[in-house]
Amino acid sequence: MPAGTTEPSHEGLFSFRIEFSIQCSKCDGHIPLDGPVEKAFCHDCGSPVQIPREYWMDTLSNSCRKMQDMEMGGGRGSILMGTFWGNLELARFDPYCDSCKTDIQDPWHMEPGTVYRCRKCGMEHHVEALRNGSSKACPG
Ligand SMILES: [Zn+2]
Ligand SMILES: [Zn+2]
Repeated sequence: MPAGTTEPSHEGLFSFRIEFSIQCSKCDGHIPLDGPVEKAFCHDCGSPVQIPREYWMDTLSNSCRKMQDMEMGGGRGSILMGTFWGNLELARFDPYCDSCKTDIQDPWHMEPGTVYRCRKCGMEHHVEALRNGSSKACPG
């Protein structure tokens, strides 16, 4: 009899980090984007900037394709010029605690709306549902 496997499967799922900031068209200040938001404000001059949904869909699906075959720990950054000027940094990592860098236990089966507490430093991470159709752009 073959040994049954009870390993939780996360086939087809993978994780990567995105750091994305765009440049303010008024004062050249940096506007860090906290998730796929459609509106953000410049920290320096307070100007609002609108980020169209399609822009997010394109950026996320491109990023997803680049990261899918990237080896663990690998990354790439790019300077954006086009609709927006800015910086996009991608890194292929499994999810880890921002505070102490300990891997998050079984990140593949988290329920949105719950809180994950880091088993090392106790920092709380809020599990959020994917927003703005990002699950369509990044099915994995
Ligand atoms: Zn500004
Ligand atoms: Zn931690």
